[in-house]
Amino acid sequence: MQRIIIIVAVLYVLWRVLTAFGRRTAASGKGAEDFSRFNARSRDRRRAAKERQATNVELIACARCGTFVPADRSLKSSEGVVCCSRECVAALESGADTSA
Ligand SMILES: [Zn+2]
Repeated sequence: MQRIIIIVAVLYVLWRVLTAFGRRTAASGKGAEDFSRFNARSRDRRRAAKERQATNVELIACARCGTFVPADRSLKSSEGVVCCSRECVAALESGADTSA
């Protein structure tokens, strides 16, 4: 009889610990509420992330072929002209080919 009481007490404590742990992960973990259009906090977070992403990329047109490249990936010729690739820089510096 005493062994049964101990087993029940251990199971009860285990159940309490697991439900407390589950409640905490449900409150802080990612759930359906994070993707809801009506959750103001996560909606603001999504909007801020989207704006940050949109304003960070600046595109510059290549002086030779007109291809738009991100500013951090563009190359500059010796005269300081922005180009999309090493081929365009070489072509501009040799001055031979102005067509793409
Ligand atoms: Zn180019």
